[in-house]
Amino acid sequence: MSDKKVPPPPILPPSVTFNERFCLFHKGDIKGEIYTCPACKTKYCLECAEKAKKEGKLCIKCKYLVLM
Ligand SMILES: [Zn+2]
Ligand SMILES: [Zn+2]
Repeated sequence: MSDKKVPPPPILPPSVTFNERFCLFHKGDIKGEIYTCPACKTKYCLECAEKAKKEGKLCIKCKYLVLM
């Protein structure tokens, strides 16, 4: 019988570690102007958002319409 103590699991910081300047439309860093989804506040390139609007694409995260 081992009496080893199990170390507590590491506590992750509550702060968002996700890169805020990551565009999910082109899967890369946002360059230039930023478009923010009005529903979920996800950020995209303004350029990608314009393209998404033309192509009738929705916000990748929340499926909300891309509104410019
Ligand atoms: Zn959204
Ligand atoms: Zn983009």
